[in-house]
Amino acid sequence: MLKFTNSYLGLGEQFFQRILPEKVASPCLLLWNEKLAAQLNFSCDLQQGSLEEKSLFAQYFSGNSILQGAEPVALAYSGHQFGHFNPQLGDGRAHLLGEVLDSKGIRRDIQLKGSGKTAFSRRGDGKCALAPALREYIMSEALFALGVPTSRCLAVVSTGEMINRGLTKAGAVVTRVAASHIRVGTFQYFAARGDLASLKTLLDYTISRHYLEIDSLEINNEKLSLEQRILAFLEKVIAKQITLVVDWLRVGFIHGVMNTDNTAISGETIDFGPCAMLGTYDEKAVFSSIDEYGRYAFANQAKIAQWNMARLADCLLPLLVEANQGERDKIEQQVLAKVESLVVSFTAKFKHAYYVMYANKLGLAESTDSIKQLVKDLLALMQSKKLDYTLTFAYLTKLVNSPDNLVNKPKPQADNSLTSKLHSELKEWLNDWQPAIEKSALSRHEAQALMQKNNPMVIPRNHHVEAMLARCEQAVIDNQNTSGEQANVRGIVEEFLHVLRSPYQELAATKNFQDTPIDGDRFYQTFCGT
Ligand code: AMP
Ligand code: MG
Repeated sequence: MLKFTNSYLGLGEQFFQRILPEKVASPCLLLWNEKLAAQLNFSCDLQQGSLEEKSLFAQYFSGNSILQGAEPVALAYSGHQFGHFNPQLGDGRAHLLGEVLDSKGIRRDIQLKGSGKTAFSRRGDGKCALAPALREYIMSEALFALGVPTSRCLAVVSTGEMINRGLTKAGAVVTRVAASHIRVGTFQYFAARGDLASLKTLLDYTISRHYLEIDSLEINNEKLSLEQRILAFLEKVIAKQITLVVDWLRVGFIHGVMNTDNTAISGETIDFGPCAMLGTYDEKAVFSSIDEYGRYAFANQAKIAQWNMARLADCLLPLLVEANQGERDKIEQQVLAKVESLVVSFTAKFKHAYYVMYANKLGLAESTDSIKQLVKDLLALMQSKKLDYTLTFAYLTKLVNSPDNLVNKPKPQADNSLTSKLHSELKEWLNDWQPAIEKSALSRHEAQALMQKNNPMVIPRNHHVEAMLARCEQAVIDNQNTSGEQANVRGIVEEFLHVLRSPYQELAATKNFQDTPIDGDRFYQTFCGT
């Protein structure tokens, strides 16, 4: 069984509400993530397990029974939602069960989501619909396999209850595993209340959990002062956000709701509500039904991450002021200048990481000015010609080690229409790319290996995700109506996940999920209301 510890509870009652999950009518275990369970030192092969075992797990991972050692709480946090500050958010439909040390000794939160109302529910019902629960499972598993920092899901349990989401929907509870659930919004919660003592407690806890290396840093053979410690913390959180967003851009992920309450300090992707994948390259791509102004559009994600870091910096200012002695006005100016320069440094650091990432996607190890131009030109071409993001890079990956297909020999060997289309749209650009590849220190073979690591052959395309969710929903509803065997959600999901777990390889079934949607996702919309 999972061995729980509950270190977060040691921070003080102001950090959470102790509350048990609501019981549900008839829980049924639909998905169980064996690989993740094994990483949590919790090996049990439920595929081979007895019905009793499955129903016991359904009780635990619906919240009907509480696992030994778990102490369920709902966490307090605030958040800027679409730029507007809401001082009181918090887990309105989630229960943190506790923490578990994984096989690498890293502390992971185990949280139920959709597990009932809490003090933070406001007008919500505390529930989660089945499709968004499954979506979180699939999308997080896909991101993990793509090498993007992310929370993951251990289980999805259907509750046997129907919930109201405009239409009546099947309810579910999803178990989320994350490095922690500390958000920018958690810092905002205490900063907004002027509770500096709790803010400091939170800072120390977060450093010890995610940025322990700060405590062994030295400047001039001395441990860091409180001010240096806070600034080092901000710098490291910024670095993690840059890595995260660059990885999102690399694979074409659009988070969709980068509010500060959905920004994990650990640098993991959390909250998959309205997320989507980029098909046709469009830097303005937005799929969320509530993102009217494109605040969280594909290419806006770095700017927003920086904005979110500025909000974290705001929270740290009072601690920095306290850490110094002297005339208050002067100190305020000084610390403001220091955090500002860190937040501003996001831009240059991001740009550097961004161009290195794209250089790698093009088989180049570093990004010189001419390579940056090559990247800009390619993105502009993809935008104007409406090319598919993933397929374009997959095409280039195949091409790089077949110079015969490149310049001066414009006719590609493969004559399928996609390859021909890409070849003719990119012909001139290929003429620029080719010399860069020739000049590069990497051999063509090495260039291809680098591209293969950075360019997925398959992503969880929106139309495939939606089709699969619809099949799963139907299977669960049919099952509830006939109260027969367990719905075969696992079979449906695994067909897709089998391919998504090896996104950089072409398996026999990969081709089933590489096609682009007929409507080019023009009418695709995602929703927050889970
Ligand atoms: P999210 O969009 O999932 O990031 O949620 C934003 C805030 O709304 C968080 O405080 C959630 O706990 C809360 N929330 C979302 N859905 C519900 C619900 N069905 N019931 C209660 N609270 C909810
Ligand atoms: Mg959230």
